[in-house]
Amino acid sequence: MHASDPAEPTRGPASGPLGASATVDADAPDPIDVVALGWVDNAGITRVKTIPYARLDAVATHGVGFSPVFDVFLADDSITAGTLVGGPAGDLRLIPDLAALRPLAAQPGWAWAPGDRYTQDGVPYAGCQRTFARRMAARAGLRGLSLRMGFEVEWVTGTEDSAGRFVPAFHKAAYGMSRVVRVSGQLRELTRALAAQDVSVLQVHPEYAAGQLEVSVAPEDPVGAADTTVLVRETIRAVAARHGHAVTFAPCVLPGEVGNGAHLHFSPWRDGMNLCHGGEGPRGLTREGEAFLAGVLRELPALLAIGAPGAASHLRLVPAQWAGVYRCWGLENREAALRLVTGMAGERQHTANAELKCFDATANPYLVVGTVIAAGLAGIEDGLRLPVEVPGDPSAAGGVPRLPESPAAALAALEASAVLREALGETLFDAITAVRRAEIVRAAGMTPSEIAGEARRLY
Ligand code: GLU
Ligand code: MG
Repeated sequence: MHASDPAEPTRGPASGPLGASATVDADAPDPIDVVALGWVDNAGITRVKTIPYARLDAVATHGVGFSPVFDVFLADDSITAGTLVGGPAGDLRLIPDLAALRPLAAQPGWAWAPGDRYTQDGVPYAGCQRTFARRMAARAGLRGLSLRMGFEVEWVTGTEDSAGRFVPAFHKAAYGMSRVVRVSGQLRELTRALAAQDVSVLQVHPEYAAGQLEVSVAPEDPVGAADTTVLVRETIRAVAARHGHAVTFAPCVLPGEVGNGAHLHFSPWRDGMNLCHGGEGPRGLTREGEAFLAGVLRELPALLAIGAPGAASHLRLVPAQWAGVYRCWGLENREAALRLVTGMAGERQHTANAELKCFDATANPYLVVGTVIAAGLAGIEDGLRLPVEVPGDPSAAGGVPRLPESPAAALAALEASAVLREALGETLFDAITAVRRAEIVRAAGMTPSEIAGEARRLY
């Protein structure tokens, strides 16, 4: 922990019961019977412990048991070990955040709450990704900054045939109304479900690839943005299941096709002012906003090991698919890893933001928001300026560097990043790098189509 990070409070009997803050009315016409307590592991898999609703107050105080070995689970449920994390011994407590509790509209009788992990003595666990994200948001807060963030959710919907082959629900036309007609009931139900869960949806629309759809949501605080993207994905999955569809958020669904991104939009703010607008820097960025973005660009090779971590991510990271594989920035440039978005004249003080296009949904979103904040704050601390803007296709501009082209190259950049190593702290850094190393070994024995197929089933 950074010397100047605010301390996380410890938890114990004095902190509960917290049931009054829950947004779920268990006595409503369709009462809640079961609560899923969720967390996302370092391989980007959302896992849960589930409890009867009647136990919620007790669990909000003392949590449920949780082995620390989950931090070194790989995507296929095999288990590795770091130097600090791993092995069968030890226990933690997973404590739901009741302020984030939501009914699951597509799973009647169920609610969802993201959890934070504590030691059995009630001390925040150093390997907890959600606590890390909150700590980085608080670190920004100590400098008078707040962040607004939001993840786009792209997915592919379809069915599996008897041979296990994935069949997208539709093919042409990209962005076509014909797609919406094919799944209009499903999209309506999804829109209703997200509204019932207090998710502020901006757009629900057909995307480019076969079977591909997208939801974008309003920006919120960093931890809220990560919570929301997990909730949105699981809601999409549940609604689709009710319609006999399987969905996938995997970066590469069918090799050679455009993949699914999980682009992160972000803007730093100070004193109610958006630092991406109305300043002296390039394209109206304030100097502080520019430094934040430049910090992100500096750490981007290392951030790739967090935001697009695996072999499946790298099947997606190819030029000319708007996946942002070039380490550069540009106004509304969809081939730049860092796209500056201003919005329309008259609304830019609210809407201007930056978009990281290279990330995907195999990432842990809490690690993504936390590391992006750490990188941006370091950029401000070092007074960085952005390099010259790349206005068009970076491949035509010549000399624009690519992001790391393999998980191993991205991992090497992460291991060399003093900024991210310090921010994550040694326990989390140890667990993440152990998982990355083991995933690289595992993928070495797989073909691209095996890698894509596995990711399609797991994410
Ligand atoms: N599907 C593209 C990706 O892999 C992004 C398309 C878009 O710009 O929305 O990131
Ligand atoms: Mg899109």
